[in-house]
Amino acid sequence: MKKIALITSGGDAPGMNACVRAVVKTCLGKGIVPIGYCDGYSGMIENRFISLVSDDVVNIIQRGGTILGTARNDEFRTEDGRAKAIKNLKVEGINGLVCIGGDGSFRGARALSSEMDIPVIAIPGTIDNDIFGTDRTIGFDTAMNTVVDAVDKIKDTAGSHHRIFLVEVMGRDAGFIALETAIASGAASVLIPEERSNIKLLAEDLKSQNKRRSNSIVIVAEGDDAGGVKEIYEKLLPLMDGYTLRYSILGHVQRGGRPSAFDRILATRMGVFSVELLLEGKSDVMIGSNGDALHTLPIEDAVNAAAMPRLENLQVIKALKTVR
Ligand code: ADP
Repeated sequence: MKKIALITSGGDAPGMNACVRAVVKTCLGKGIVPIGYCDGYSGMIENRFISLVSDDVVNIIQRGGTILGTARNDEFRTEDGRAKAIKNLKVEGINGLVCIGGDGSFRGARALSSEMDIPVIAIPGTIDNDIFGTDRTIGFDTAMNTVVDAVDKIKDTAGSHHRIFLVEVMGRDAGFIALETAIASGAASVLIPEERSNIKLLAEDLKSQNKRRSNSIVIVAEGDDAGGVKEIYEKLLPLMDGYTLRYSILGHVQRGGRPSAFDRILATRMGVFSVELLLEGKSDVMIGSNGDALHTLPIEDAVNAAAMPRLENLQVIKALKTVR
């Protein structure tokens, strides 16, 4: 194994840089040349890359985003697009590829791997945590902390004005961020795509929990079946008998920021492991975490099964409801 290529792909996530650092340092320590393609699969198709040296990864463990850049690329979805990428990998003499990204990136990695003989290792990096086969993805912990910090601030103003706030968090297809941050921020209720939402029941629930018209938070995943947060607000308002309601969309702030210690550690361990796996001759596997332990599973399995948040946590939120 002489040269390993590395990409960050799809949505960026805090901790990707910590992972890049770990892959680069592990490669250099083992006499392997690490190269980073810029902007995910786009750089691979357009042959834009950096030969990475120690200095490139100094002081990046604490930085959000990704120094390699990331992108979404439709050409890579075609066999012709991937053929260009494979040609570039071959000309450069790449012996292994590490792909840090979400499930879309893994579908790309899977397709690429079936069309070439270069081994591929996938590392789950997405704030959404919506990847089967791992209990944590790189970036999820940081995103949750960002949400909790923002909701704490919203609660200050909500309490002062005796308002109920709907707070929309990221999660187009999955309620991981919403469900766990609802617990961590002491929310009155949570709406997630995995559960049918009933706005009438939500109104009754909020009124009964909030008799003194103080403050309540409802966390709403952006992909909830009742609509976007504005739509939910408009449906809820007429049912709230004069309670004051506001909504807030946290948006892209959830993607950025310094990675948490948890994400740095997870990213670093996965990065080191990816190089070890390539040296052991492994291919087509994704690294997952199960508590403190890392394991592997076929990328195929990871992309073909849906990841589910812990729905029993809905009961945890219900159990804490009080009639005030
Ligand atoms: P994420 O990795 O965060 O889920 P995307 O779904 O946007 O992000 O995927 C990132 C990139 O992976 C896409 O822009 C595309 O280039 C590639 N990709 C996604 N799905 C496929 C697929 N089925 N076949 C080939 N490439 C894909």
